[in-house]
Amino acid sequence: LSQLDHLPAKSEAASSSSDTLPDHPPQSAGDTTLSLLTKAKGHYWYPADGPRILDACGGAGVACLGHGRSDIARAAAAQMKSCAYVSYAHFRTRPVQELCEWLIESTGGEMQKVYLMNSGSEAVEAALKLAREYFVWKNEPQRVNYIGRWESYHGTTFGSLAASGHVVRRAPFEPLLAPQRFHKISACHAYRQRLCPEESDESFVARKAAELEAKFAELGGHTVAAVVLEPVVGAALGCVPAVPGYFAAVKKICDRHGALLVFDEVMCGMGRTGTGTGTTHAWQAREVGVVPDLQTIAKGFAGGYAPASALLVGRKVAALMRQTGRTFTHGHTYQDHPVVAATALKVQRVIERDGLRANVAVQGALLGRILKEKLGKHPNVGDVRGCGLFWGVEFVRDKTTKEPFDPALQVALRVFTRAVRVERVLVYHGQGCAGGGRGDHVMVMPAYDVSPK
Ligand code: PLP
Repeated sequence: LSQLDHLPAKSEAASSSSDTLPDHPPQSAGDTTLSLLTKAKGHYWYPADGPRILDACGGAGVACLGHGRSDIARAAAAQMKSCAYVSYAHFRTRPVQELCEWLIESTGGEMQKVYLMNSGSEAVEAALKLAREYFVWKNEPQRVNYIGRWESYHGTTFGSLAASGHVVRRAPFEPLLAPQRFHKISACHAYRQRLCPEESDESFVARKAAELEAKFAELGGHTVAAVVLEPVVGAALGCVPAVPGYFAAVKKICDRHGALLVFDEVMCGMGRTGTGTGTTHAWQAREVGVVPDLQTIAKGFAGGYAPASALLVGRKVAALMRQTGRTFTHGHTYQDHPVVAATALKVQRVIERDGLRANVAVQGALLGRILKEKLGKHPNVGDVRGCGLFWGVEFVRDKTTKEPFDPALQVALRVFTRAVRVERVLVYHGQGCAGGGRGDHVMVMPAYDVSPK
């Protein structure tokens, strides 16, 4: 990326929008022309039908340590040999215990209980259910409402999708997404929502807080179980951090009404934003003092070497569980899976040992600077935003009107392949919501151990 070249001019970019670019791999799982992948090693994919491809997105922000590491494979294999599987209902295992202890410690004890699962959707689903059950235990059964945000993504299951504000992914299921229970406020998207370029952060946050307050008033504050949001919005918007002060305002409102705050850090957590120490969840550094009641993590948790996710439970909910002796009415067959835990633990130990969070911060700052300097000038690039190794580029038809630009993918691939001077590169194509669900952004999410070379 340090060798960025001339980008295509506007006319070239526009004309490329109709290209099918057959030399690039399809980017949709539903595409029957998907190439056969024969190997993945380091930061590269090796498809059977062509040259290697630079992995600049780790799938959907998953492969945080690159591919083909034998140290992680050894840790997984050792656990498979000693105990591949046991039900969480029958025994606890050492890797599960160690991983949970490590997670709790890494949050400075703010999170006190952990449920290990396999996908982000499961973790969010569990968070929604635990929020409900917490209020049942608390004798506040009237708390049946959730507030999420438009232009967000929390998962594919009914609960997590209902909490999501991703119009395209919701569309076929809309009548089933319980609109009387899952309510929405707008996203916190400075590029598109500031009243004017000069609007201050304080004014912006005040408007957002007023909107949330109004939603609580409309529903009745005592009926809201939880507010669910992504600290840095991933797939739905393309790496959009909140305006400073936003989370503190949201937390204050939640606390005043007695509702729980859920941070969905499935995509932006576990070091992706390059902040803090320990598990480096976005909340630890972005806005000190804003700690959620429940938190979900996945993706970079095990870096794709195993399907790993978790729900972390904060002080308030954990305390009630301890006091009342209640247990969460929830459980998956593969919950607390020993091989998943051993793998995630190894991934986290490698990140810790090799100081990769610091590398994310350093390389992320460099990546952001280069993307802004070089891509920001492109006539079809409206905004470049992000933090750590989590950067989004939003494409527009016109920089002034900010009209969304449907064929972002074709333009993006052309821009990026030139930019990094490799023949083929894979970036994540987000189905943007800003343009009513059309494709208008890409995300760059390389592994935590990248270097400028
Ligand atoms: N939450 C966020 C913020 C996500 O980005 C995703 C997936 O991209 C999910 C939840 C769902 O995770 P999964 O696809 O592992 O079910």
